[in-house]
Amino acid sequence: AKVGQKKESKASFDIDLKDAIDGQVVTRFPPEPSGYLHIGHAKAAVLNQYFAEMYHGKLIIRFDDTNPSKEKVEYTNAILKDLELLGIKGDRITHSSDYFQEMYDIAVQMIKDGNAYADDTPQEKMREERMDGIASVRRNRTVEENLQIFEEEMKKGTEIGLKHCLRAKISVDANNKTLRDPVVYRCNLTPHHRTGDKWKIYPTYDFCCPVVDSIEGVTHALRTIEYRDRNTQYEWMLKALKLRRVHVWDFSRVNFVRTLLSKRKLQWFVDQGRVAGWDDPRFPTVRGVRRRGMSVEGLRNFIIAQGPSKNILNLDWSLIWAINKKVIDPISPRYTAIENGIELTLEDGPADVVRETRPKHKKNADLGDKTMLLSCKLLIEQDDADTLSEGEEFTLMDWGNAIVTKLVRKDGKVTEIAAKLHLEGDFRKTEKKLTWLANTDELTPVEIVTFDHLITKDKIEEGENFEDYLTPETIFTSQSVADLNVRDLKEGDVIQFERKGYFRIDKAFDGKKAVLFNVPDGKVVSKYG
Ligand code: ATP
Ligand code: MG
Ligand code: MG
Repeated sequence: AKVGQKKESKASFDIDLKDAIDGQVVTRFPPEPSGYLHIGHAKAAVLNQYFAEMYHGKLIIRFDDTNPSKEKVEYTNAILKDLELLGIKGDRITHSSDYFQEMYDIAVQMIKDGNAYADDTPQEKMREERMDGIASVRRNRTVEENLQIFEEEMKKGTEIGLKHCLRAKISVDANNKTLRDPVVYRCNLTPHHRTGDKWKIYPTYDFCCPVVDSIEGVTHALRTIEYRDRNTQYEWMLKALKLRRVHVWDFSRVNFVRTLLSKRKLQWFVDQGRVAGWDDPRFPTVRGVRRRGMSVEGLRNFIIAQGPSKNILNLDWSLIWAINKKVIDPISPRYTAIENGIELTLEDGPADVVRETRPKHKKNADLGDKTMLLSCKLLIEQDDADTLSEGEEFTLMDWGNAIVTKLVRKDGKVTEIAAKLHLEGDFRKTEKKLTWLANTDELTPVEIVTFDHLITKDKIEEGENFEDYLTPETIFTSQSVADLNVRDLKEGDVIQFERKGYFRIDKAFDGKKAVLFNVPDGKVVSKYG
């Protein structure tokens, strides 16, 4: 076998898939349609796409829809949309349910070969027997008896059928507990969102995954590391069922501090009304982080950077936001916002407002120009004003230097301030470069929103309940005024406010105000966390 040429790509990691043949690799991303995609799923999706592209192979998007109690069409559509947001398009879109008949036939053959048996041991007792390495009393049923129960009772969802499951006959007491006769089929009378009430039995993940991987021509199945114990079982299934071999490649799960990555838990926040929806900016969903200002490229770079690591990680969010910052910084136009402003009178400033143009980004002319207003009435931040003293020379950013001519202070706070331009002064020599705006009726009110994590604990341990660690307050709003150019920004635009950070427009200016979300930039100690 020959390893394929790596695709030219900015972000790449040095790792190969075993026995990969260029042009013949098939990977698959198998989400269960039981919620929206989160950043952990994004990792799996991006890695599968990465390898498919690297080897000029194919990527299958497979909806793993074998549990009708949890799945809905709504989620299938949402997941396709999420993948589109990530720039991921499979070569084929399939469903595990496409293979219900084939899987059923394979299970029948499995029984005929003496590799499976029907068991009605109550769940609790089955668990105990499995723990203790004790054989089920049903383990030695005859093929005829097993077939009769599977085909006549379980398949029809009868009372007797509902009490049964089908188990692979692998081992009673293997050290690897995943080999202790795992369940391969069970009954469920809930109608399936695609097949309706045609089926009353459904394959388990342990059976469905190897079988469908093999049927669909998957060459390399990527699985998160906690399934590693199951790899032997996966291979056993393929061998016992006489199916084509598939390579399994383990990768690490990604976790973030103070973050829940589980569709079920995220659903709880949605149901409780603790978030506005699956695209809430506090959510680690693909939609949530995008809304918060994560770029697709930043997310992908982050995932590829994590690529080969097999450690289970509990990452700090600052890592991914720092990677994102590298992507957005060169393309984010610069604007100005003033929070808690005080008027500064510029004694020799223009009496009538002057309109000038400035580049939106000093190092990226492609972004074009913006309008800058000059006036004799300016607005600067109170906090900045409080640091100044009479006679001090400072810089008005993108205009020039000025010298404080008058300063009235009350209780340490500046209440009145005037200055004179000193445009021949050297801006490199001043200590303070202040942001400012012409105080005109073209100032644009903006609401700036910052967020905290939904839970207070870095990692919720086994046995702990996340509901005991909810952060009481997670949304913080403040009001500022911005330059007039901000009126033209559209929802989704990402910008920088000079000296403040990066922001994403969540609601464009509506005549009254615009709403902007702060985009974290990876600085660990930040007002905006
Ligand atoms: P959830 O509990 O959120 O539903 P899941 O693993 O049950 O997670 P699936 O829809 O079955 O969700 O997973 C689809 C793919 O995403 C699988 O390959 C799974 O291993 C992978 N995946 C899920 N969570 C993570 C994670 N935190 N890190 C990496 N990959 C993940
Ligand atoms: Mg799952
Ligand atoms: Mg799950």
